[in-house]
Amino acid sequence: MDFSGNIALAFDLDDTLYDERDYARACIANVARHCAEAFGSDAIRLEADMLAAPNPYDGLHGTIGDKLPIDAFLKIYRATEPASLPLREDARRLLEVLARCPHIPVYLITDGRCHGQYAKINALGITDLFTPERIIISEAIGFDKHTPMPFVTAMARENRHSGWYYIGDNLAKDFYWPRRLGWSTFMVTDRGRNVHPQPPLKNIAPEYRPDFVIDSLDYLTSQICQSLSLQV
Ligand SMILES: [Mg+2]
Repeated sequence: MDFSGNIALAFDLDDTLYDERDYARACIANVARHCAEAFGSDAIRLEADMLAAPNPYDGLHGTIGDKLPIDAFLKIYRATEPASLPLREDARRLLEVLARCPHIPVYLITDGRCHGQYAKINALGITDLFTPERIIISEAIGFDKHTPMPFVTAMARENRHSGWYYIGDNLAKDFYWPRRLGWSTFMVTDRGRNVHPQPPLKNIAPEYRPDFVIDSLDYLTSQICQSLSLQV
């Protein structure tokens, strides 16, 4: 695969660059800490109860009942700012190579609330790798990846119509619109840790499938290094 031309890359965030469940765990720990302070609850037990339940609020409710109503729970959960989150190792290697290629525009295109998505970006320590106008969050633009708008926004900001690549994990929304817009798409396979399950491709309508499936972002790192004659 040749990446030596005029290209632009855009990444999904959750379960592409890091494991979203690590963020969910940080939010759960934050809620448990709050309950320990406010109600004298046992934070370790609450954390375990929330992790064991199919949905964390049910686990919490089972132990402390109505002490923390769902809206208060959501407020604390969504306000969580983890001190740090681990970037996937293959993502770190790829982003380090891209940081050495300033001619390649690199975008983040992610669905979610601005506060939460920026909290993740800060905790991952990748703030410096993406210029602010190259971070596109659905809440900020008012459209998510079920519409063409996040991708069209990137194309307009870069004033570039071709040579785009999107790298994501979610078959419901990461590949349909970019492909319709002429982008090439890569799906990173679930290593068993994703929050959203990745159904077998044969069960997915062809227009929702990615162009390429990769087990690791290291594939892109090696292809980019080869195309640009860079040392890894
Ligand atoms: Mg994702």
